[in-house]
Amino acid sequence: MRRRSENKRDHAGLGTRGVWAGEEGNYWERATQIPVALSVSFGYDDVNEWLKVAQGKTHGHIYSRNTNPTVAAFEEKVRNLETAEAATSFSSGMGAISNTLFALLSPGDGVVSIKDTYGGTNKLFIEFLPRFGIKVSLCDTSDHQAIETAIGQGCKAVYLESPTNPTVKVVDLARLAAVAHRHGAVVIVDNTLATPINQQPVKLGADLVIHSATKFLGGHADALGGVVCGGADLVGRIYHFREITGACLDPMAAYLLLRGMKTLHLRIARQNESALKIARFLESHPHVIRVFYPGLESHEQHEIARRQMRGFGGVLSFAIRGGFDAVKSFLPRLRYAHLAANLGAVETVAGPPSTTSHVESTKEERAASGIPEALIRYSVGIEDTEDLIADLRHALGKVRLAKRRARS
Ligand SMILES: *Cc1c(COP(=O)(O)O)cnc(C)c1O
Repeated sequence: MRRRSENKRDHAGLGTRGVWAGEEGNYWERATQIPVALSVSFGYDDVNEWLKVAQGKTHGHIYSRNTNPTVAAFEEKVRNLETAEAATSFSSGMGAISNTLFALLSPGDGVVSIKDTYGGTNKLFIEFLPRFGIKVSLCDTSDHQAIETAIGQGCKAVYLESPTNPTVKVVDLARLAAVAHRHGAVVIVDNTLATPINQQPVKLGADLVIHSATKFLGGHADALGGVVCGGADLVGRIYHFREITGACLDPMAAYLLLRGMKTLHLRIARQNESALKIARFLESHPHVIRVFYPGLESHEQHEIARRQMRGFGGVLSFAIRGGFDAVKSFLPRLRYAHLAANLGAVETVAGPPSTTSHVESTKEERAASGIPEALIRYSVGIEDTEDLIADLRHALGKVRLAKRRARS
């Protein structure tokens, strides 16, 4: 677990902090890059010194399930960008989410959330937490009044995600955090889709901010990881739980995520810009029924998104004419997209929710979440925008040809 040490670099711009935060150590043989500390344990010549480290009185590491220098550098970088007091990391985003919920909730406690959380998170809410006697109320994501009413009925935690995946809905974080705090609940926000470059939930009132670092933070689709940032007391409790459950981040993955994060601000700037252009292109295309992107004026919560986000992110989704058959014909025609279950990478990634974010859900559960079967989630990479638009135009044109042939 990483706590804030007052640092002049805390006040630089987000780009500068993305590059430098967590990197001020004194490394092995004066290496300028953070070494990958592939060491399970850390040795001491002096038992008194070892004891001081074990008791947290002196900086140091004992055993890598608890802390590790490479992992600590990654935690510090995220902590700094999210302007939080402390951060701790996990083997994956779901590791972060499940450890946080199980560390903070006990039988009889209630948690209020929304229907559109990430598919794995939704499974925790409907399948696992209730088994431990935790009351879960899942509200319609767009109905702020309903969420406020559920919070008012009493709960220990309010769990939010914004924008959501795959229909990129937006919830008013400042408004719901204020209501939650009036009722003494802890506010947890999954900030994976926005990243701290576009949105800093701590500044909007969140107590805890969670990331699947696997996505935009790492950005290169080569390492899994998760992180939770927030106040030192809460993060300390979650860290203690994780020490024991053992869902720790691997040092090699931490290194890859750290390296990816140095270009986070550049990637996000490009992805924000491209996604908006692509969303506008798709909105004007006759084969597209509907486009979901918070940057579009047609988006239901566009005004909230404008208030709480600096950019609208790299993920959009759209429904095309022709149902799931059209989706199956369209996707393989894309030249510049991996058809895969991931998002936030430098390469464009596309897929239907039934095989990606909501692979764990049934067709009925997806329909209940308002996810059309002909929906395509499109995570914009850092390729040239014109190439991506040409690629989409070409693939959409071919779908029409395939349909015509089938009819004749
Ligand atoms: C992918 C994702 C997760 C889960 O992260 P993993 O690293 O795959 O465990 C959680 N929340 C959101 C919004 C995600 O996109």
